[in-house]
Amino acid sequence: MQFSDFGLDPRLMSTIEHLGFTEPTEIQQYAIPAAMKGHDLIASSKTGSGKTLAFLLPAMQRLAKNRALSKRDPRVVILTPTRELAKQVFAQLRLLTSNSQFKAVLILGGENFNDQVKVLEKDPHFIVATPGRLADHLTQGHFHLNGLELLILDEADRMLDLGFSKQLEQINKAADHRKRQTLLFSATLDHAQVNEFATELLKKPKRIAVEAGHTEHVDITKRFYLADNLTQKEALLHHFLTSEKSQQIIIFTATRSDTDRLAKMLTDTDLNAVALSGELNQGQRNQIMDSFAKGQHKILVTTDLASRGLDLINVSHVINFDMPKHTEEFVHRIGRTGRAGTKGDAISLVGPNDWLSFKNIEAFLQQKISFTSVEGIKVKFQGLKPKKAKVVKAKPDTVKSKKAVDSRPRKVIKKTFLDNDDAGAMKIIKRKKPLTPQQIEDSTKKEQD
Ligand code: ADP
Ligand code: MG
Repeated sequence: MQFSDFGLDPRLMSTIEHLGFTEPTEIQQYAIPAAMKGHDLIASSKTGSGKTLAFLLPAMQRLAKNRALSKRDPRVVILTPTRELAKQVFAQLRLLTSNSQFKAVLILGGENFNDQVKVLEKDPHFIVATPGRLADHLTQGHFHLNGLELLILDEADRMLDLGFSKQLEQINKAADHRKRQTLLFSATLDHAQVNEFATELLKKPKRIAVEAGHTEHVDITKRFYLADNLTQKEALLHHFLTSEKSQQIIIFTATRSDTDRLAKMLTDTDLNAVALSGELNQGQRNQIMDSFAKGQHKILVTTDLASRGLDLINVSHVINFDMPKHTEEFVHRIGRTGRAGTKGDAISLVGPNDWLSFKNIEAFLQQKISFTSVEGIKVKFQGLKPKKAKVVKAKPDTVKSKKAVDSRPRKVIKKTFLDNDDAGAMKIIKRKKPLTPQQIEDSTKKEQD
């Protein structure tokens, strides 16, 4: 199949040819015609498989073919969970609009509010934005969405994870008319919250799933290593960084303070590393991403802030220094390599405090994962045994038997590792209950907008 088979506007076709795209990827083959027919879509495909063009091309086509519903309102709004991803989508959109009369603007959290008001006054056709800031402008009446034709949510599940459902509902309500089309894209769209949300936002959506979610990504080689503690994780990391043939590397850690500490440790050993975290100001974030994209740094140490969508073609390795708490983020983190048909390596370090996350990931991927070891690094930790369910033999309705149950000695789990030495999910092991989605949001939202 060729792009010319879609019946796209000739000017758009010449732009595609000019950009050097010849054959549509599989998700593009399915999603572009379905979106062009006007269907709402819940579309998922593996990381790096070209989802951005799969929604940008039908959006461009719709604007070229249909008359605008309003002269002033934006016609297409594209939302993403992070500023970095919004910038990337915007850059790709600009390539497509360069040969057209359509104006596109970027509205991000952390940037000057009044400058954005001026930009919105120019009545752009496209807005690419992070949801929090766009919702603020909407509340203040800086633009209206009565004429919106297409609402696109890239990495829709992550926006919900981060607690943006209110803002998304507000944007949805402001553009609530019969002619509006809505497209949801991600590599992971099967969880219940997405379905619930889709029922509210989408009209008779078509589901398109191409090798998404837990499906094996054949271009990414996954390796898992056990580690007793932080010191061993650092030794393993040092081993990989000095022995593996690599281009650029992204290292994911659990927290912001870990990114800084680890990046400093690496630069101290003369490795060219830089840390990206949500607490930096936008100027610093931009500068770090730009210099990493240009290849000025070999290693980017970051959190799940960078797990979604970023398309950095020279990333040969992803290293999970800590396992992600949100199971889906594993798929997205490792998807920063192996993009557009290239090969990549994903290395994951699993310490005692990562074990719970690891088991969840193993279940999500629906495969039994085995561990690799490194010569010279002796690891005692072999995983945690699942807790056995308590068998209560005494009759529950007598005082005596209750006492008998309560007074049994507590089982003491002997630990052969030091909790505090591990940079993994210290909190999880100490908590009695697992974190609620709200608590996870609260802890990760600060990273975002
Ligand atoms: P996803 O959103 O699925 O993770 P992206 O849209 O970021 O993937 O695309 C990944 C890479 O593939 C980008 O560098 C993009 O330019 C490239 N790409 C997209 N479509 C095609 C195509 N039809 N042929 C070749 N490369 C493509
Ligand atoms: Mg994407």
